[in-house]
Order: sequence, then C-alpha cells, then structure tokens
Amino acid sequence: MPPISSIAISHLASGLRPPTAANPTWPNVLHTRIADVVAAMGPAPWARRLIADERQLVTLIAAPPGGGNRPHWHADFDEWWVVFVGHLEWELTGGVVVRAKKDDIVWVPRGTVHHIRNVGTELALRMAVAMPPAIHYYSPCEQCGYTEDGPTEWGA
Ligand SMILES: [Zn+2]
Repeated sequence: MPPISSIAISHLASGLRPPTAANPTWPNVLHTRIADVVAAMGPAPWARRLIADERQLVTLIAAPPGGGNRPHWHADFDEWWVVFVGHLEWELTGGVVVRAKKDDIVWVPRGTVHHIRNVGTELALRMAVAMPPAIHYYSPCEQCGYTEDGPTEWGA
C-alpha cells in the first residue's frame, strides 16, 4: 500500500501584491502562449513543465505519431489532461479506452493505470495537470501489455 502523503506549503503570501514571483521562462510564466512553447521545444517527443507549486504540476507534452507514456498509476491524486492538438488514446484499467482530440478533456482517477498514445498521423499535444510530488507507480498496460520505459518527463 502506498504511504499516505501530505502537502507542505513552503511559503504563504502575507497580503496583496503584484505578480512579481513570475519567472521569465517556464515554469510559472505570467502569460504562456502554447505556440511559443512549441517553437522553443522543437520536434517531439518532449515535455515542458509550465506551472509548478505545492499543489499543482502542469506539463505540456508533445508526442509524435505512435509515441506515448510508460503506463502507470497514481495513489494520491486524480490526473487530467487537455488535448490541444491531434488524436490521443488512453488505455485504462478495466478495459476502458478513451479517444480524445483537440479541445477534449480527459480525467482519470487515482488508482487507474493510464497508457497514453498518439494514435493520429500528426503531432499530438496535451497538457497534463497533476499534483506534486506526482509519484508514479509503473504497471504494464492491462490492454496492450506495454511496459517500456520512456523518458521520465513523459510520466504525466
Ligand atoms: Zn499519470
């Protein structure tokens, strides 16, 4: 059984203030244009953390056709994604398959293995929203058996 986790907040705002804590580059830029991230990162595959604090990890992930993540599950948070570009498939525990495209949101509860693949013929771009420390418990895909280790930054 995974250990119980808790959130440690490293600092609090003492009052109202202008947004001076924003970074000049990701993560935590005041205004992110997705096209700028794509241009900066170059050809897929890649992943770029856009927002990170004690409660949220937001990552933009680019996958080439056929590309995907290493199947895994999370113990202490539900994860969700927004598809910006392309066609993606989520193979989930229990024989569930979700196919999603641009402007779709996919939500997966804790304890569900998710194997995400680009099933289209062009680049797929998704934004993952997770919670730190986002511990991954790797497990083969129940449906296709896929278990290969990919870059850890694809983990979300
Ligand atoms: Zn995940």
